Amino acid sequence: MTLGAPSAAVVSVGNELLFGETVDTNAAWLGRALSAFGIPVTRRFTVGDVAEEIEWAVRDATAVADLVLITGGLGPTPDDLTKSVVANTFGLDLIFDQEVFRALRSRYTERGLDDVPVSAYGQAEVPEGATTLENPEGTAPGILLRVPDAIVVLLPGVPRELQAIVEGALRPYLVSLQPGEGERIWHHVVHTTGIAESRLTLRIEERLAELDDGVRGRVGLAYLPDLHGVDLRFSAHGASQDEAMSHIMPCLEAIEDVVSPYRFEAASGDLAEAVCQALRERNLTIATAESCTGGLIAKRLTDTPGSSDVFIGGVVAYSNDVKVEHVGVLVSDIEYHGSVSEPVARQLAHGIARRFGADVGVGVTGVAGPGGGSEEKPIGTVWIATCVGGDVQAFAGRYSGDRAAVRARAGQAALAAVHRRLVDAGRGLNP
Ligand code: ATP
Ligand code: MG
Repeated sequence: MTLGAPSAAVVSVGNELLFGETVDTNAAWLGRALSAFGIPVTRRFTVGDVAEEIEWAVRDATAVADLVLITGGLGPTPDDLTKSVVANTFGLDLIFDQEVFRALRSRYTERGLDDVPVSAYGQAEVPEGATTLENPEGTAPGILLRVPDAIVVLLPGVPRELQAIVEGALRPYLVSLQPGEGERIWHHVVHTTGIAESRLTLRIEERLAELDDGVRGRVGLAYLPDLHGVDLRFSAHGASQDEAMSHIMPCLEAIEDVVSPYRFEAASGDLAEAVCQALRERNLTIATAESCTGGLIAKRLTDTPGSSDVFIGGVVAYSNDVKVEHVGVLVSDIEYHGSVSEPVARQLAHGIARRFGADVGVGVTGVAGPGGGSEEKPIGTVWIATCVGGDVQAFAGRYSGDRAAVRARAGQAALAAVHRRLVDAGRGLNP
C-alpha cells in the first residue's frame, strides 16, 4: 500500500477489446465512478483471454495500485479465465461456495430452467478467503480479494452487471478507501457552448491564477470538450456537497463574467433541454425549418421530456421546392442568393414561425459537405436565423469537421442562438 491517497488500476480482459470489436466502456465507466470516490485510476491494462497475459497484468497492476479492478472473463465459458488465473497468481485454491451456488440455482430456476447445468458449476467457485459481491443483474458474482499489496476485485464484463456490483456491494469498500472519514469528491459541472476550448481555458486560468493558492489548491478543474461545447467540471473534497461547494464557490465567482455569455443549465447536459426550459418559463412555443441539419434540432428538442409543451413541429426543408412550398421562401431569393444564404435562412425562420403559429422560429441552411463547397461558400458554411416574436436575426457560421460534425455544430449553434435571445431578453439586455 502506498501512503496518502489510494490509487486504482483497471485490468480489462477480452480478445474482443484488443481486436477492437468491443470498445472498452467498462474502463471509462470505472474511471469516472472511482474518481467520484476520490480514488483516481492511475493505470489501465488491456489483455486478451490468455492466462499468461492476464497474470502479467494482474501482477503489474497490484504493484502500482492499491485497488485493482479486473473486468471480463468471469463467465462460465472456457475462454473465461480470469478467476482461475487470479487464484493461481496468488497461490489460492478455488473453493466451491454453497451460498453462491444457491443464488446461482435460484437464478436458473427463476428463468424456468430445471437446474444449474454442470458446465456452470465453476461459477460457484471462489478463491479461498475471498468475499463475494452480489450481482443483481447476472449469474457471476463479483469477487473481492485482499492480497499483500492491494485489494483485487473481479467484475463481470457485461457493463450492466459490472455497474450494479460497483454501485451496490462494492460501494462500502470504496467508501472505506476514501481519504478522510466520510469524505468524498464532489463535482460541480458548468456547461458552456459557443466558445473555443483554447480561448475559454486561457481566460479561465487567468482568473483562477488571481485566487489565493489555498483557495485554488483545494479545487480540481477539468475541461471536457465535445462537438457541442466545453463542460467545466470542478471537483473538491468534502464530507457533504455543501462543504465541497464552499471550496468551489470562490472559483465560480472568479470566472462568472467569463462564462456567463456561454453558460447554460441542463440536468442532461443538453442545450436543447435548456432551450425547452427557457421557452416554458416564458410561455413560448418553437418551430424549426432545417435544411442541412435534416431535423437534428427537432430531434434534440423532442429528446427532452415534456417538449410537447413548447415544440410545435418542424419541416426538413431540404429541397428548394419544400423551402418554397412548405415554408414560404421566395423562389427569386433562392435563385439570386442561392439556397445557402442569409435571406433564405431568415425566411425559413420567419416562415416556419408564421405557418406553424409559433412564437419562435429557427431556420438553418448550409453546406455540410463533403461535396458542394465553393470558394464563396466553403464546406461548413451555415446560415442560421432565429425569429423571436417576429424579429429575425441571422448569422453565418463556419463549422469544421466532417459532415456529421458540421451538422452537430450547426444544430448546437442554432439552439445557442435561441437560448441567448430568450435569456438575454429575460435580462433586459436584448429586447
Ligand atoms: P459472461 O458471464 O457473459 O461470460 P464475462 O464476465 O465472462 O461475462 P465477457 O465474456 O468478457 O464477460 O463479456 C461479456 C459481454 O460484455 C460481452 O458482450 C462483451 O462484449 C462485453 N464486455 C466485456 N468487456 C467489456 C468492456 N471492458 N467494456 C464494455 N463491454 C465489455
Ligand atoms: Mg464471457
